[in-house]
Amino acid sequence: MITSNQAKNGFNPVILLFCFLLLFSTILAENIKKADFAGTKSDKYRKQTEADLEENRFQNEINSLFDSNYDDIDTTGWLINQINGWRFDYSALNDTLRIPFIDSLHKRYFTFPFKNYTTSPFGSRRGFWHFGQDIKLQVGDTVKNALDGIVRIIVNDRYGYGKVVVVRHHYGLETLYAHLSKTTVKQNDKLKSGDIIGLGGRSGRATGSHLHFEIRLYGQPFDPNLIIDFENYTARSDTLFLCKDNFSYLTDLRKTVVHTIRKGETLSAIAKRNGTTVQSLCKLNGIKSSTILRIGKRLIVRKGSNQFHNTYVDIFSNSGT
Ligand SMILES: [Zn+2]
Repeated sequence: MITSNQAKNGFNPVILLFCFLLLFSTILAENIKKADFAGTKSDKYRKQTEADLEENRFQNEINSLFDSNYDDIDTTGWLINQINGWRFDYSALNDTLRIPFIDSLHKRYFTFPFKNYTTSPFGSRRGFWHFGQDIKLQVGDTVKNALDGIVRIIVNDRYGYGKVVVVRHHYGLETLYAHLSKTTVKQNDKLKSGDIIGLGGRSGRATGSHLHFEIRLYGQPFDPNLIIDFENYTARSDTLFLCKDNFSYLTDLRKTVVHTIRKGETLSAIAKRNGTTVQSLCKLNGIKSSTILRIGKRLIVRKGSNQFHNTYVDIFSNSGT
């Protein structure tokens, strides 16, 4: 029904509104198209500028962390969102590195993170590599920072390290404290040896509460027993000596693969194909030579020198427990 007012003007306001909206949306769509087309270049430029600014901001932030106490902390591989960011190839290292660990001249000392007995050591564990030393603790025990440094990253790695803090120290050294129940420091905090970094726990992939402690040089873990005496809670020496042999385990690790058992396969066939032995397969996987293989079950295989088959998945990863 048309009211007298509409009839007088000769326009139906609903139709008028519809026409207006149609016109408006067409103009808008055209403009968006034009903007899209014209904007491709400037967007790219804007993104580039933003990335540059972000990079500058990041660099300035990193630079601002350093003063005379911290200026010889090497920022190589300083990533703020990854625990394992940067890897140095130590197979090319020919000389022995001599790294000051305790430096009384600069009042830099070592503190044992939590004084208690150790459980799992650095090394091969059920075929997987364990990159640190486990120290027994109870949930809520205070964990201390080992050496002067700056917090590089704090993250909650739910399926691995759990709540974890990584501190960068002088000369490219890093220490890592995992499975914490609480962290009490922030990223970029400057820490002295002995400062509390958090409370112990069993977060992430951990069986029972413990501290998983790692020490690394430019991202590569090495056996902390080289420099730390875990029985007496002290440093073994003021100077840490490292050579490529201390990282040779990485070469072996890269030969470790996971094999999924297929129909008709036997342990001896798998061993033969990978240049290894049935005994080695049994030891790595905690099985007996008489164990019946299930199709689809995964086996850890450490390849020997005469292997010629290469269709496996590399399991190398630094996700400690
Ligand atoms: Zn561990």
